[in-house]
Amino acid sequence: MNNPLLQKFSTYNGTAPFSKIKNKHFKPAFLEGIKNAKKEIDAIIKNKSIPSFENTIEALEFSGQQLDRISSVFFNLNSAETNDEIQQIAQEISPLLSEFSNDITLNEELFKKVKLVNEIKNELNLNAEQDMLLTNKYKSFVRNGANLNEAQKIELRKIDAELAKLKLKFGENVLAETQDFELHITTKEQLNGLPEGVIEAAEIVAKQKEKEGWVFTLDYPSYVPFITYAEDRNLRKKMSLAFGAKAFQNNKNDNQQIVLDLINLRYKRATLLGYNSHAHFVLEERMAETPSNVITFLNDLLEKAKPAAIQELHKLTELAKKDGINNLEKWDSAYYSEKLKKELFDLEEEKLKPYFKLENVIDGVFQISNKLYDLNFEEIYTIDTYHDEVKTFKVTDTCGNYIAILYADFFPRKGKRNGAWMTSFKSQWKKGNENSRPHISIVCNFTKPTKTKPSLLTFNEVTTLFHEFGHALHGMLANTTYPSLSGTSVYWDFVELPSQVFENWCYEKEALNLFAKHFETNEVIPMDLIAKIKKSSNFLEGMQTLRQLSFGMLDMEWHSKNPSAIKNVKEFELASFKNTQLFPDVKENCMSTSFSHIFQGGYSSGYYSYKWAEVLDADAFALFLENGIFDKQTASNFKKQILEKGGTDKPMDLYINFRGKKPTNEALLKRAGLTK
Ligand SMILES: [Zn+2]
Repeated sequence: MNNPLLQKFSTYNGTAPFSKIKNKHFKPAFLEGIKNAKKEIDAIIKNKSIPSFENTIEALEFSGQQLDRISSVFFNLNSAETNDEIQQIAQEISPLLSEFSNDITLNEELFKKVKLVNEIKNELNLNAEQDMLLTNKYKSFVRNGANLNEAQKIELRKIDAELAKLKLKFGENVLAETQDFELHITTKEQLNGLPEGVIEAAEIVAKQKEKEGWVFTLDYPSYVPFITYAEDRNLRKKMSLAFGAKAFQNNKNDNQQIVLDLINLRYKRATLLGYNSHAHFVLEERMAETPSNVITFLNDLLEKAKPAAIQELHKLTELAKKDGINNLEKWDSAYYSEKLKKELFDLEEEKLKPYFKLENVIDGVFQISNKLYDLNFEEIYTIDTYHDEVKTFKVTDTCGNYIAILYADFFPRKGKRNGAWMTSFKSQWKKGNENSRPHISIVCNFTKPTKTKPSLLTFNEVTTLFHEFGHALHGMLANTTYPSLSGTSVYWDFVELPSQVFENWCYEKEALNLFAKHFETNEVIPMDLIAKIKKSSNFLEGMQTLRQLSFGMLDMEWHSKNPSAIKNVKEFELASFKNTQLFPDVKENCMSTSFSHIFQGGYSSGYYSYKWAEVLDADAFALFLENGIFDKQTASNFKKQILEKGGTDKPMDLYINFRGKKPTNEALLKRAGLTK
């Protein structure tokens, strides 16, 4: 068949032949890929030899590679360059893919073989990476119930189906409640304080709804600026109350019972599989390992951040008093924070942008990667891409060895989803003497150049580029045997270390000197601007930390205990917030009923990861600060112990190998200005 997705990719270094791939190729390629992957699995099952690490675990690891390549091309396109047809194919193909992966994890004959190998594990003389691969493969069956008896298996499937339904319903309710509310304004005075762009957007929304004036909604792009800038306190209150009451109004969209059902089912599922709680189940595959580690971690940060938070709240209260407000409420927080920020910093984004021309920032990222990890980047114009705007680079080390292909896709356009992300078109792996190098991509939505001006980035966009590039380094420098352990395939609370640590260079004079030059005058960014950036990045850090901690603690409260006695969602939440709330409680509001991260998405027992990752990156960067931010030895250690290693070992062990000790909260608290 003449389907480019099913032929060997023979263009530049095996990169995907995008210009030859048409939408009509995807579905037949997926079907063929699944068929071939099934054949490979069948061959493992039918193999008559005694199950061994090689003929079972390794064979399983390298099965379905064709399907993986097709999937990564397709799903990356669906994120970065999609259209109705691609979305339609995704709808059709997704159930087939999950059916295929269920066929593997629920396959009893295959599990028997994996289990046999796992039982003789100690006699096999495995290295750390092989050990990790075997554990992961074995666990992927067991965590889906492979060790249960028939009745228990049926029970587990029932729970899973019920959970999937409840999560979906939870999300639908939040969405319905978000869409049901609008704030319709017809008097101009009520817009006082709002930036021009926000008013324009509200006017467009009003027009779409065939209404006069302006309409604000509970969608973030409308809600957040309103609550931050609107001078009319009553309207801020109205918006804030509506936002906090989502799915907590005893109507058909109410989520209270769904929350209780979800946590009870999750608990039941975990205990069925032999775990103490849902959090114990989740954290088994995390760097943090246990609920008590997470709780200790959050409590320690709380103790350190709380005094600062109270001081900051005091400052806001004083500022509000000038407006005659004597008791600060939730709906005043963002508004007076913004006011205080203006008073303290007056950091205008427009003044910074000329120093951050996109081409200069890219050059900076490359120079820093060269100084740290000896990488060179050469733009290649002959690599096939999915859009003209995508740039491609060949990455080599200073000895000229080929390391990776890097794709970079910077600007927004129709068919690209929001935000910024790193992904790969091909992961890295080794077989025999071959070290097959990865094809990595970063996708962003940066300010576009105009006819007269180049692309000038906001500082936020600069840190975003560094962040995604940090992930890309993790992918590009991967040097493992098995693709499922390669690059960013690490435990979830470890994956943001390489990305966040790389952001630190954006705040250092020595690094900024390399690239932050005025696009017209070539003048290097002045020191006082750098100082302002640093200071403003810690603005109200205490209050913000408390907010994050309150969410992390609520998440752990819901998931780390037997929940059968919990009857009232709001009461339970209030008790959990006891030590973290700075503002008076609002009885009409509830956080849990719209806490989609943990009840709809995949963050249950994982919300702490945001702070956890910050602690890791601050602690890791502290070593660079001690030894010099371009110290070769420190960088080389980070590369060897962290970036090259992927998920081949326990993250804590990898970290200690780099750092010489476990991470502590001190460096983060210091960087955030929460300790002296
Ligand atoms: Zn990230």
